Amino acid sequence: MELLSRARRALNTDDDALAAHRNRIRQNFSLLGALALAPFALLHLAGANWPMFAVNVVLVSAMLLNFQALKRGRKPPLPFWFMAVLMVGGACASVLAQGLNGVVWAYPALFMFFFVLPRGLAMVLGLVLLGSVTAASTVSLGWPLAARVFMSLGFVLIMINVVLNVVGELQRALVAQAITDPLTGAYNRRHLQQHLQQHLAQRAAPAGRAAVGDALLAIDIDHFKRINDEHGHAVGDDVLCRLVTAIGARKRGGDLLFRTGGEEFVLLLPRIGLAAAQGVAEELRQRVAQAELVPGQTVTVSIGVGALVPGQDVDAWLRTADAALYEAKRQGRNRVVVAG
Ligand code: GH3
Ligand code: MG
Ligand code: MG
Repeated sequence: MELLSRARRALNTDDDALAAHRNRIRQNFSLLGALALAPFALLHLAGANWPMFAVNVVLVSAMLLNFQALKRGRKPPLPFWFMAVLMVGGACASVLAQGLNGVVWAYPALFMFFFVLPRGLAMVLGLVLLGSVTAASTVSLGWPLAARVFMSLGFVLIMINVVLNVVGELQRALVAQAITDPLTGAYNRRHLQQHLQQHLAQRAAPAGRAAVGDALLAIDIDHFKRINDEHGHAVGDDVLCRLVTAIGARKRGGDLLFRTGGEEFVLLLPRIGLAAAQGVAEELRQRVAQAELVPGQTVTVSIGVGALVPGQDVDAWLRTADAALYEAKRQGRNRVVVAG
C-alpha cells in the first residue's frame, strides 16, 4: 500500500524543465493534434475504413474538448494520461490495420507524452508504447521490421531523456545564478524578497503556525569604507567573503543568509524566538570581532534583530530589523540591538 502510494507520487511529481509551461503546451498540442488527425478521419470515412475512422474521431473529439477547457482555464475533462493511453491504443490499432503507415504515428506520440505529462508518467507510457507498437509490428510487419521499429523508437526515447536532462540542468544552473550573489555565494536581494514572501505565506497557513517566532538579523560591517580605503577594494572583497564564511559556520540547517547591499546582509532565523535570536546575533558579533577578517586588524559588525510580528508583511519586517541596525550604529557600532 505504502509502495503503491509512493509510486503514484513519483509518477505525478511534475517538476521537470517543462512543468512551468505544461498547461500552455497541453492547450496548443490539443489543438494541433486535433487539426493533424482530422484530415485522416475524413480520409478513413471516404475509404469506408470504419475502425480507423472511429479511432480518429474519438481522438480528435477528446483533443478538442481538452483544448476548450484549457483555453477557459479549466481542468481538461479527459486527463492527459488517459489521452496518452488512447494514443497507445490508437497507434497499435493503426499498426495492426495499416502496417508502416501506423508506425509513423508512434514517434510524435512518444514526444507528446513528455510534453504533456509529468516525466515519470511519460516514461512509463513511453515504454508501454514502445513494447506494444513493437508487438503490433511483429504481427503486421514481421520480426525483421519490428526489430527496426523497436530500435528506432527506443533510440528516440533515449534522446528525449537526454535532452530533458540537459535542459533541466541548465535550468537549475540559471535559477541558482539568478538568486546567488556571485562574490560571496550568499543569496541575493531578489531572492530575499521572494523567499520571505513565500515564507510568510506558509507561516500564515494554520498548519504551519508555530508557537516559536521567526527573526531577521540585519548585519552591517562597521566602517567598511575605511577598510576599502586603507587596504584596497580586493581586501574589502575578501572581508565580505570571510564574513559570509564566519556566519555560515554558525548557521543552523534552516537559516538563510542574503547579501542585500555592498556590506549589508540579512540572516533569516526561522522558528527561533526573540531571546535565542539575540543570543545568535551576539555570538556572531563576537565571532566576527575575533576572526580578524583583515589580518592583524579587528573588523566589527553591527546587528539589528527584528522578530516577526503576526500580520506583518515582508517590508515591515525588514524595516523593523533595519531600524534596530540603525540604532546599533547610532549607539556606537559593534553591538546588537533588538527592535521594539
Ligand atoms: P558604517 O559603519 O556606518 O556602516 O560605515 P561604512 O563605511 O561601513 O558604510 P558606508 O555605507 O559609508 O560604506 C560602504 C562601503 O562599501 C562603500 C562602498 O565602496 C563599499 N562597497 C560596496 N560594495 C562593495 C563590494 O562589493 N566590494 C567592496 N570591496 N566594497 C564595497
Ligand atoms: Mg557599514
Ligand atoms: Mg551599509
